[in-house]
Amino acid sequence: MNEVKEFKIPCAICHKRPATRYCDYIIGYSNPQMFMRDFQQICANHGPDYETCDVPMCDECAKNVGREIDFCPYHYALYQKAKEIPTDLRKAQARVKRQINTELLHGSD
Ligand SMILES: [Zn+2]
Ligand SMILES: [Zn+2]
Repeated sequence: MNEVKEFKIPCAICHKRPATRYCDYIIGYSNPQMFMRDFQQICANHGPDYETCDVPMCDECAKNVGREIDFCPYHYALYQKAKEIPTDLRKAQARVKRQINTELLHGSD
């Protein structure tokens, strides 16, 4: 008996272990407008309409960033960078969010 198994899908990072998960980093939306408008419905019916990186990885190489979410090392680095928004941008972000909330509260009609 040959003990060495051919992995169905080898880990794309280390090439040593079998892949057990795929990178969940979202690299694009197939239909952004529809995605925004009918998010709940799309999720319920066909799953969200986006494309993920899907690089196959083993447990060792995957970077877990939350419940059921794993990124490949490349996208994990991007993700870490993306969180570092400069302070002035962060302030502008907070201001707009406040404004949107106020408009939602008071309504436009
Ligand atoms: Zn690996
Ligand atoms: Zn990735």
